[in-house]
Amino acid sequence: MIVVMSPTATKTQISYAQDRMREFGLEPHLIVGAERTIVAGVGKEKPGLMVHLEILEGVEKVLPVVAPYKMASLESSPSPTVIKVRDFQAGGDRIGVMAGPCSVESREQLLDLARLVRKVGATALRGGAFKPRTSPYSFQGLKEKGLEILAEAREETGLAIVTEVMAPELVGLVAKYADILQIGARNMQNYPLLEAAGESGLPVLLKRGPSATMDEFLLAAEYVLKTGNNQVMLCERGIRTFEDHTRFTLPLASVPYLKQKTHLPVVVDPSHGTGKTSLVPSMTRAAVAAGADALMLEIHQNPEAAWSDGYQALNPAQFLQTMESTAVIAKAMGRDLG
Ligand code: PEP
Ligand code: MN
Repeated sequence: MIVVMSPTATKTQISYAQDRMREFGLEPHLIVGAERTIVAGVGKEKPGLMVHLEILEGVEKVLPVVAPYKMASLESSPSPTVIKVRDFQAGGDRIGVMAGPCSVESREQLLDLARLVRKVGATALRGGAFKPRTSPYSFQGLKEKGLEILAEAREETGLAIVTEVMAPELVGLVAKYADILQIGARNMQNYPLLEAAGESGLPVLLKRGPSATMDEFLLAAEYVLKTGNNQVMLCERGIRTFEDHTRFTLPLASVPYLKQKTHLPVVVDPSHGTGKTSLVPSMTRAAVAAGADALMLEIHQNPEAAWSDGYQALNPAQFLQTMESTAVIAKAMGRDLG
């Protein structure tokens, strides 16, 4: 159940509406917007609540929410959520670009790429310090050293840092260095991790699990939202299908679908979504045409020598060309890229 308070509602009226919700068995969560406050009630309510709420002073309207993801649903917050961190923005008139290597490999590698990312016009730097690798024998990341290097890159360039956190007990450490916490595809349903990331108060980039349905994806986001952190971005990064011409199958219909269901910004990662450098530029442009609010791209100075995911990384020249051609599509969509 969603209670939309009127723009002039007082604090007392809002807390009175929350009290009534509790009385009827719902847990109220506040969504404070620029213009008005929304109270989302989660749980199983006793009958009769709707009429009680509708007549309260300061209440504009009351809406039942049919979607299982109460706080993520568009019904709970009809205006799109825009996430801003430093110069990075996902949603609204801007399509934010997060670019960088799959893994932080060394100080020189990362600082060099950070400068390139800045010059070419992206506003966030990605780079894994804790890497979820299929094989335990593959490079696992530079861990805290990698985080220190990322923070140094932010210091120099001003780019927002997005990096993955793999376990609840690491959230405190990663949050000391990062601006945005990435929850990887393999961890989309790690509920204690989602809650811990939510509680950090930092924006969360949630990647879709390769076999998760849209409802499961949105319910995972709900775990973060329920902590009171409404800064969640949903990232389509490809799913597992029978296809083997690409590493994963990138279903771009999930972009307009999600935008019909949720107010949260939608991000596309064409690098993991295809797993092939040659397919990344086209799918980047297609993602923007489909309505993506932000992009995540893997780049590397020398993809052949990358310590992870080199086969899907763009080299500097390819990154520049991709950004230039994608900016044209963004313009056609009435938005700016970067
Ligand atoms: C990554 O971004 O490098 C990564 C590991 O992504 P995913 O969790 O989508 O596989
Ligand atoms: Mn990767």
